[in-house]
Amino acid sequence: MASHIVGYPRMGPKRELKFALESFWDGKSSAADLEKVSADLRSSIWKQMADAGIKYIPSNTFSYYDQVLDTTALLGAVPSRYNWTGGEIGFDTYFSMARGNSSVPAMEMTKWFDTNYHFIVPELGPDTKFSYASHKAVNEYKEAKALGIDTVPVLVGPVSYLLLSKHAKGVDKSFSLLSLLGSVLPVYKQVIAELKAAGASWIQFDEPTLVLDLDSHQLQAFTAAYSELESTLSGVNAVIETYFADIPAEAFKTLTALKGVTGFGFDLVRGAKTIDLIKSGFPSGKYLFAGVVDGRNIWANDLSASVSTLGALEGIVGKDKLVVSTSCSLLHTAVDLINETKLDSEIKSWLAFAAQKVVEVNALAKALAGQKDEEFFSANAAAQASRKSSPRVTNAAVQKAASALKGSDHRRATNVSARLDAQQKKLNLPILPTTTIGSFPQTIELRRVRREYKAKKISEDEYVKAIKEEISKVVKIQEELDIDVLVHGEPERNDMVEYFGEQLSGFAFTVNGWVQSYGSRCVKPPIIYGDVSRPVAMTVFWSSFAQSLTARPMKGMLTGPVTILNWSFVRNDQPRHETCYQIALAIKDEVEDLEKAGINVIQIDEAALREGLPLRKSDQAFYLDWAVHSFRITNVGVKDTTQIHTHMCYSNFNDIIHSIIDMDADVITIENSRSDEKLLSVFREGVKYGAGIGPGVYDIHSPRIPSTEEIADRINKMLAVLETNILWVNPDCGLKTRKYTEVKPALTNMVAAAKLLRTEL
Ligand code: GLN
Ligand code: ZN
Repeated sequence: MASHIVGYPRMGPKRELKFALESFWDGKSSAADLEKVSADLRSSIWKQMADAGIKYIPSNTFSYYDQVLDTTALLGAVPSRYNWTGGEIGFDTYFSMARGNSSVPAMEMTKWFDTNYHFIVPELGPDTKFSYASHKAVNEYKEAKALGIDTVPVLVGPVSYLLLSKHAKGVDKSFSLLSLLGSVLPVYKQVIAELKAAGASWIQFDEPTLVLDLDSHQLQAFTAAYSELESTLSGVNAVIETYFADIPAEAFKTLTALKGVTGFGFDLVRGAKTIDLIKSGFPSGKYLFAGVVDGRNIWANDLSASVSTLGALEGIVGKDKLVVSTSCSLLHTAVDLINETKLDSEIKSWLAFAAQKVVEVNALAKALAGQKDEEFFSANAAAQASRKSSPRVTNAAVQKAASALKGSDHRRATNVSARLDAQQKKLNLPILPTTTIGSFPQTIELRRVRREYKAKKISEDEYVKAIKEEISKVVKIQEELDIDVLVHGEPERNDMVEYFGEQLSGFAFTVNGWVQSYGSRCVKPPIIYGDVSRPVAMTVFWSSFAQSLTARPMKGMLTGPVTILNWSFVRNDQPRHETCYQIALAIKDEVEDLEKAGINVIQIDEAALREGLPLRKSDQAFYLDWAVHSFRITNVGVKDTTQIHTHMCYSNFNDIIHSIIDMDADVITIENSRSDEKLLSVFREGVKYGAGIGPGVYDIHSPRIPSTEEIADRINKMLAVLETNILWVNPDCGLKTRKYTEVKPALTNMVAAAKLLRTEL
């Protein structure tokens, strides 16, 4: 029984690659230094997998930035603005595409399926010239071979590459990007031939787009591509990897009928229905790469459950054709549990990061081959049992409260227009009220205060004093700016999810559990391991202090349940929606405590609601239903006069506008400044609904200061679609990444623009 790993994290157990990259970018170290750190990481990863006993070890899953950008380099598909003149693509061109340079901006970045990883979107058109311009895949294969390790080179497959591309600037949208297949395949043939010549016996093609809702024309492209590659692939085994969801039946049929391919990989963690497809017909003589070890989470595998799944599959494809694998690349999980010295030992026994998952895959393969490591399996069984019965996991009161929610509807009794009237009587706001999204600049001084408090270098009194001073400063600035609805600035928060997770029960935190988000950036998601509850109020102290400083309304500021869920590693022993409902109940308590403390405006951020949308259309309605329900639960108990805001920082939600309306918030602020037109239809729906709407009037992601005229012009455009009485004036998102020298003039102009328009209306 063989074992296989789809891909491995590149950053290193202590983010070594991040620091090497950033130091190189800052000119503090040489290209040779960066290459050395990278080569050391690759060799230690390969050795680790080889030592664990993995048979099919991936290569070319390392990347200096992103695997899709690596494919753009492989294909020489460099947009002309980077002035690449041919030859092997080096760091200059590569990092210019990734990050921009002094004269040209970077290529666009977008989310990799429904993960928090972002890839660099290829820009293609009829004029794109393809050529074999990066030998990275072959070089890495040879590099591993020189270390005595035979690897499976991994390539982003040609069809997924094209399906994930966008039209280059100026290219007519009617141009079919898939029509470029004939031009990219010659390059694929070259790299395949070189890999064969170098001695590769397997090549892995990642074609994850196969799990999406593709039409027959798109599916046809797979058939065409692999037929075209068939002769080049003779003499080498090709495995096509799919991941992140169940594969649709049609795609399964197309995939398993592909010519020139010897193996097929499936995500059997997220794709429980795929097993039925495999059972109903898997081509004989082909290899099945069974992804039973979850690449997207940090939980230890339930080994005995996996053994029985694998046993059933073995009966279908035969012992020699079944390969134990991960559900997807381990890129999406944390690197190595060994560095988590501060985690509670019981919780730690429930976890497996990438390094531990490699060991699990191998243990499963050996068990199926009749060489079960009894000790490893019984330790695993004990950990599974302790997780099931641990009082840390289960809180009967929470379970009861959450299950009582099921099936019942939660909706504020009065409709939004009537509520807004009641709120206006209390708040007495001008038309076009101004506000901000929550955070104010996070200065170095502020970060120092939080760090020292955490490290117990300063006392609680000193900490509270420092934060109060910061809040007072932020309140004073906003009063001077004459903003209508104020915020306290979030100086006590390091991160909008971590801050709440640290105060809720059921959450654990790692020291090094980093996951690559894009380029050198990583995030460290909290781990939700148990039933969630809120032992004590989390934000009331700071919000009431802030309110005590001003006669203007102060917004309470909370992160919503769906965002907390989507930005955490979530428990896998109950459905996601149950965990979400539990978080919703905890936030509900907080909302009600804020209201009792005299906070009349409460913003519940759902920045990540769109992000959790399932890949397949058939799964989306269910998700949106419980996600929106969870949000409503948080504020169903407040008075009509309490104004509930929500904020979302994405603009692409035309497809979920009805769900957003269904959240039934009083005021919705959204990121907008980079996509005016897209939002127009959204606004129209908003008008019908009657809630307040605050489309961001300027982009906070840029240091640029917008002028009063420019902002006024923006607001005027919005007024062409929106009623005056529902429009709010606010920036796109929080201001924490900006400097005061940018924030003050920008907000001055924003308030001036609102006032200017008020006089004209
Ligand atoms: N209230 C948060 C802030 O202002 C919202 C951040 C976000 O939407 N990402 O920082
Ligand atoms: Zn935002």
